[in-house]
Amino acid sequence: MLFSVGSLNNINMCPALLDFASRYAYFGDTLLIALSAQCDGRKLQVTDIKTDDINTTLAVGVSSCLLGKRVRFDGGHKHDRYITDVLGKVFTFVPVCPEVETGMGVPRETIDLHGTVEAPHLVGNETGADHTSMMNRYATRRVKQRDLAHTCGFILKSKSPTCGLEKVRLYGSSGRVSYRAMGLFAMALMRRYPSLPLIEERSLYDADTRDNFVTRVFAYNRVQLDLMQRPSVSKIRRFHERERLLLDAHSVKLRRALDKLLASSCDLTPTVFAEMYRGLFMRALAVRSTPAKNARVMRSVLHRIETAIPSKPTRKLAQLIAKYRDGRIGLLEPLSLLRHYVELLEIPELVNQSYLNADDRETWLRFGKYG
Ligand code: SF4
Repeated sequence: MLFSVGSLNNINMCPALLDFASRYAYFGDTLLIALSAQCDGRKLQVTDIKTDDINTTLAVGVSSCLLGKRVRFDGGHKHDRYITDVLGKVFTFVPVCPEVETGMGVPRETIDLHGTVEAPHLVGNETGADHTSMMNRYATRRVKQRDLAHTCGFILKSKSPTCGLEKVRLYGSSGRVSYRAMGLFAMALMRRYPSLPLIEERSLYDADTRDNFVTRVFAYNRVQLDLMQRPSVSKIRRFHERERLLLDAHSVKLRRALDKLLASSCDLTPTVFAEMYRGLFMRALAVRSTPAKNARVMRSVLHRIETAIPSKPTRKLAQLIAKYRDGRIGLLEPLSLLRHYVELLEIPELVNQSYLNADDRETWLRFGKYG
């Protein structure tokens, strides 16, 4: 159940939160879902994950054909070597082929989306059979299953009327073709897990998009492990402090929105509060970081430590940050040196920052080497 922003006024909640909700509702469905769950007393299923259910490996869902499985309509596959040979070194894949899992068989007739973007129909191109209800029923059930509930991201096959995330071909009622639809399975996945990082395989070939996806997968894993298990306000505050620099490298505006969320004293349950936090947190990380933003964050760290280190390394760090901002070197060079001095000085509020202490696997995937 989703509420429009207007209907939020009917919810019995503290004024500070209502004000917050009115301002930030446009950031996505997550906040509204959290509020609606609080409102009608239903338990939030998304956060109902028990400690022993969480997989410490990074589970990522993938459209099966991208892993080389022969599940396509013609018995072929769309094996993507980057996914299996690089991402596969770090992620544990959960393969899903919705068309095969609904019993459509291999080989099978090709299908396409017809109708409107909001309510597309999945129709066989030869028989005209309408697979919509069957696929929607399956997808709604499948996305709730345990293996998918524990994923930290999902890589979807582009252009597919079932798996495609964006710009899927859609035949309108007049026969006019547009490319604005989303596959039915992708739609169910997004509805169930609005904060889950999703990407199409073709977007992995854009360096910035890939970098952002990897960052969000690891961040989502941290949220699930550190926040969503038996959430409490103090846990959320500690988590937020550790993520502060990373958030600033993506969106200062949304980091401030999270500050406000934490400052608003209200009577929400910790579970709903954590759900709201996660929605905005993941939304903030979906905003791209840039060299200018990263340089600003690193300069702020340098400013904190410069009085405690000799002037020569201070100058060196300032030069590296400037070189990085100007595109002459990669992010890892200034970041590694900065991390070195922060560890040496043991400044409590800096040593635990996720921005300076990325998981080795994340560093390897993002920069091709360890920091
Ligand atoms: S795109 Fe999706 S439904 Fe189609 S073959 Fe690949 S995994 Fe199966």
